[in-house]
Amino acid sequence: MERGKKGREPLIFEYSRPGRGGGNLPGPDVPMDLVDWFPQERLRQGLRGLPEVAEVDVIRHFTRLSQLNYSVDTGFYPLGSCTMKYNPRVNETVAGLPGFSWLHPHTPDELAQGALAVIHELERYLCEIGGMARASLQPAAGAHGELAGMLIMKAYHEQRGQGHRRRVIVPDSAHGTNPATAALCGFEVVQVQSDDRGGIDLGALASLLGEDTAGLMLTNPNTLGLFDENIIRIAAMVHEAGGLLYYDGANANAILGISRPGDMGFDIVHFNLHKTFSTPHGGGGPGAGAVGVKEHLVPFLPVPLVDRVDDGGNVAYRLNHDLPQSIGRLHAFMGNFGVVLRAYAYIRTLGAEGLRSVSNNAVLNANYLLAGLKDLLEVPYDRLCMHEFVVSARNIKKETGISALDIAKRLIDHGFHPPTMYFPLIVEECLMVEPTETESKETLDRFIAAFRDIIHEAREEPEQVKLAPQSTVVGRMDEALAARKPDLRFVAD
Ligand SMILES: *Cc1c(COP(=O)(O)O)cnc(C)c1O
Repeated sequence: MERGKKGREPLIFEYSRPGRGGGNLPGPDVPMDLVDWFPQERLRQGLRGLPEVAEVDVIRHFTRLSQLNYSVDTGFYPLGSCTMKYNPRVNETVAGLPGFSWLHPHTPDELAQGALAVIHELERYLCEIGGMARASLQPAAGAHGELAGMLIMKAYHEQRGQGHRRRVIVPDSAHGTNPATAALCGFEVVQVQSDDRGGIDLGALASLLGEDTAGLMLTNPNTLGLFDENIIRIAAMVHEAGGLLYYDGANANAILGISRPGDMGFDIVHFNLHKTFSTPHGGGGPGAGAVGVKEHLVPFLPVPLVDRVDDGGNVAYRLNHDLPQSIGRLHAFMGNFGVVLRAYAYIRTLGAEGLRSVSNNAVLNANYLLAGLKDLLEVPYDRLCMHEFVVSARNIKKETGISALDIAKRLIDHGFHPPTMYFPLIVEECLMVEPTETESKETLDRFIAAFRDIIHEAREEPEQVKLAPQSTVVGRMDEALAARKPDLRFVAD
C-alpha cells in the first residue's frame, strides 16, 4: 500500500541546496603545508555528496526520526517476556555521575573502590533476591548469562568425573535461547512436553531422566506466564538423577521478594538486569545477564569476583582472580557497568518492600488484563496468571480470517505496541501479553477497549484489519529482509 506520500515531510537530503550550511567557523589557522606529507589523492576536495542543510533542518530531521520510534516513554508496550516497564530517570542520573562514567577501566582497584563497592553490593542484593551464594555481573545479556551458567554446569560435572552427563532437558515452552545455549555448550538438548495446566509433565520428565542427565533449564513462571505448581517435585527429581537446575530469570519480575529460585531448588540463576531492573532495552543492548550460583558452584564462576575484605580495620574491595576452576573471563573488565549502576539505583530506590510491590502489581495488572480479554479470545490455560499471560486468536481466525498477526498490527493504529506473537510455539495463534507494574488502570482499560474494537472490526470490516497498520510511515514489511538488510546508510551520488 502506498502510504504517507502526500503528507510526508521531506527527508534531510531533499532539503539540500548548494551552499546552504549549518554554521560559520573561522578558517583554519594550521598552515596547510603541514599536511603536505599526506597522500594528496586521499585529501577531500570538498564535502561532495553530503546534504547541504541548515542546522534547524538537521534538528527537525533527527527529532522526527526519534518520534517515528515507538517507545516505553511514548506508549504502552506489552511485549510478553520482555518486561518493557518504565525506566525511572533517577537511574540515568546515577549512571551518568562523572565519578562513574569517567572512570577508566584500567584504574587500579584502590582508586576505584566506589565502583567496586557498587558491584559487590549489587551482587549481594541479587544473591538475596535469588537465594544464591555468589554471582558474577560480567555477562552482557540473558543469553550470555545462560552461556555462563551452562559452562558452569558442564565444568561441575566434568570436575566430578561425570563428563558423560551430556543431556540437557528443556520444556517445549522454553525461550529459544535455552536450547541454543545448551547446544552451543556441547550438550544434547531433549525436549520435555508441558501438561494441560501449562507446567512440566512429570511423567514425561521422569522418562527422560537418567545417568546422562546434565540438568534442566527452566523459566518459572514460564513463557505462558504460569508458575509451575510442581517445582519442588521437579527439583527433587532432577537432583536425584544427578542433574542440576538452571533458572532462566527473564520472568523474575513476577517473583521479587515473594519466592526465590534458590528455595525452589535451582542451582544456577541468571537475571536479565535490563528487564527486571529497568535499563532501557529492545534496540539490541547494552544489557546485563548476571549469573548467580549456590555454594557448591562458586569455584566455577567467571573471574574476577569482587570480594569485600578487611584491610587493617577498613572495608575494602578487591578483584579476586584466584578461582583455579573458573570457566574464565566472559567480558572485558567488569561487564556493562552502566547497566549495573541502573540496576543498583533501581533496587536502592525501591528497597525490599518496593521490589515486592513491583511483583505484586505486575501480577495484578496481568490478571486484570486477562480478565478483560477473556470473553474476546480463547484462554488456553485458564488459571490465575503471573506477570504475563497468553491468549489465542484461533477462534477469531476460524470465524473471520483475521489472525493474531492482523490483530497485533491493528493495535499499532490504536497507539499500542503489539504483544509478542506466535510464541510460545505450543499455543496456536498466540498473543503473549505482559503489561508490567508501571501501567495505570486507565491504560489497561484503553488496551482492552482497543481489543474489543478490533475484534468487532474483524467481524464487520475485516479488510481494514488486514491493511493495518494504516497510521505508520511504513506498513507491513518483509521482516526478515528488514532485519538482515536494513537500509540505514546515506550514499552520496
Ligand atoms: C529475553 C529472554 C531471554 C534472553 O535474554 P536476552 O537478554 O535477550 O539475551 C531468555 N529467556 C527468556 C524467557 C527471555 O524472555
